[in-house]
Amino acid sequence: MLRFICPICNLPADETELTPGGEAHIQRKGPGSSDSEFYEYLFERKNPLGIHFERWLHSYGCGKWFHAARCTKTMEVFGTYKAQEVKPPRHIIDNIKKKRPNWKNE
Ligand SMILES: [Zn+2]
Repeated sequence: MLRFICPICNLPADETELTPGGEAHIQRKGPGSSDSEFYEYLFERKNPLGIHFERWLHSYGCGKWFHAARCTKTMEVFGTYKAQEVKPPRHIIDNIKKKRPNWKNE
């Protein structure tokens, strides 16, 4: 079972208290974007077997969205951080590289 520490209320939360929100760090495409950029924004998502950055809602807790870095193969959690972060923070990247030295953030 997945278990995160919510970075907003700092309480442990297992997956029955959470709602998945898909891939983190999706950039919105606004007026002036091409049809292919808008299509990519709406429909194309990464689904790796390995390290993934995801959005989660602490729906049966504080009710706030946050981001988590985890491995989809082993369910190992590398950390959580606030949803306002536009990219994974340095301490999350360092934590992943400490455990997976060959991993590259793409
Ligand atoms: Zn919370």
